[in-house]
Amino acid sequence: MHRLEAAMRSMAEPAVEKIAEEEHSDPFKVLVATMLSAQTRDPVTFEASNRLFARAGTPREMVRLRVSTIETLIYPVSFYRHKAQHVRQTCRLLLDRYGGRVPTTMPELLTLPGVGRKTANLVLIVALGSEDNICVDTHVHRISNRLGWVETRTPEETEQALYQVAARRWWPQINLYLVTWGQNVCKPVYPTCGRCAIAALCPRIGVAKVGT
Ligand code: SF4
Repeated sequence: MHRLEAAMRSMAEPAVEKIAEEEHSDPFKVLVATMLSAQTRDPVTFEASNRLFARAGTPREMVRLRVSTIETLIYPVSFYRHKAQHVRQTCRLLLDRYGGRVPTTMPELLTLPGVGRKTANLVLIVALGSEDNICVDTHVHRISNRLGWVETRTPEETEQALYQVAARRWWPQINLYLVTWGQNVCKPVYPTCGRCAIAALCPRIGVAKVGT
């Protein structure tokens, strides 16, 4: 983790962290940006989030928008139609059940439409400062397995396995470090192992072909 920390200083931050920084860790904006980010490239997530927040920066402003308007604003994020519906439904629930605030516990976050463990964990870590969560997305799942930290089939299994094997002090950083690494070096296909700062520590489990 120390080597990753040093090596990634020159790399761009993932979109959600960038938005959190620009928006002073506003939990609502971190939540919505994370919902938009699923299976979407970071630059697209970043631009779409900013277009949406320019029109609606609070749940109350968001429910005043039609779903079709949200769709137009967030296009071309993946599944933009579903995500537009989920964002609006979530904002309705935030207003009806939580006084317009983002709830601060995992069970409450999981009641929101379109919010799974990955989104909930990221909101808890990035916006609410939790040190008790690990956020596992596809990058964290893939790289944790390549490194041999875990031997798992799904991100959900990886999250639970990481709680057992990862030093607690790194839990909040695991997502940021491995997502950055996954976007720049340890890509899904053709990871550039020859330019990897942690190559000497990595058994490269399951890596068949490497890039240059
Ligand atoms: S050595 Fe290759 S497989 Fe291992 S972390 Fe680096 S890029 Fe990924």
